[in-house]
Amino acid sequence: MTAIAASIDQVRSRIATAAREAGRDPAEVQLLLAVKRVEAARIREAFDAGATLIGQNRAQELVATEPDLVDVPHETHVIGHLQSNKVNQVMRWANCVQSVDSSKLAERLDRAAAARERDLDVFIQVNTSGEETKSGVPPEQAGELAAVVGSLPHLHLRGLMTIGANSPDPGEVRASYTALAHARDAVVSSADPGTGEARELSMGMSGDLEIAIAAGATMVRVGTGVFGSRNT
Ligand SMILES: *Cc1c(COP(=O)(O)O)cnc(C)c1O
Repeated sequence: MTAIAASIDQVRSRIATAAREAGRDPAEVQLLLAVKRVEAARIREAFDAGATLIGQNRAQELVATEPDLVDVPHETHVIGHLQSNKVNQVMRWANCVQSVDSSKLAERLDRAAAARERDLDVFIQVNTSGEETKSGVPPEQAGELAAVVGSLPHLHLRGLMTIGANSPDPGEVRASYTALAHARDAVVSSADPGTGEARELSMGMSGDLEIAIAAGATMVRVGTGVFGSRNT
C-alpha cells in the first residue's frame, strides 16, 4: 500500500468515527481531497487508492493538472476564490464551483455554462468566522445570494461552503460550523425557487473535520492529512 493510500484509509476511519459519535451514517460524509500544489502523479495515486473527488484552489493549477487526469473517472471542484476572468477556463474542467461569493460571479458562471450547453453545480461560500482574510458572504447575506443563484437556469445550488475559524479554541471553530448549518437551514426553508435542494455543508479540514462532522458536514476537504505538509 502506498503512503497516500494509507493516509486516505486513516482519514476515512476518522470520518467514520466522527460520524458514528455524532449519531450519523458515515456514508453521509464525502471526502474531497484538497490538491493544491500536489502534482498530477500523486493525485493519480490517490485515485488509484479509491479517491474520486478533488478540489483545486487556483484556476491555473486546475487547468495545468486536469489534462493529465482525463483517463481517470473523477470529479473536480473549485474550492478557492475564483476571478471572473478565469470562469471560462474553469468551465472546461470543473464539475462544481464551491466558492461562489457574489451575484456577479454567479451570473458569469451561468452565462459560461450556457455557452457550453451544460449545467454547473455550485455552493455558496460563507465567511462564518468574520476573519477579513477569508472570502465569502456574511451568513446574513447567504439567503439573498442563494435566491439569485437559485434563479439562474444553468446553476444547481447544492449547498453552502465555509472555511472554519482559524483558532486554537475548538469552541470558536464549532461556532463557525454551526453558523453554516443555520444559514443552510434558512436557505432550504426559504421557499425561493432553486434553493430547496441546497442541503450540503462543505466544511472541515485535516485539523478539525471531527468538529465539522458533529456540526453536520456532508463533505470534508482534506489536504495535508493525505498529502503531507505543503511547501510554502
Ligand atoms: C487547503 C484547503 C483545504 C485543506 O486544508 P488542509 O488543512 O490541508 O486539510 C480545505 N479547503 C480549502 C478551501 C483549502 O484551500
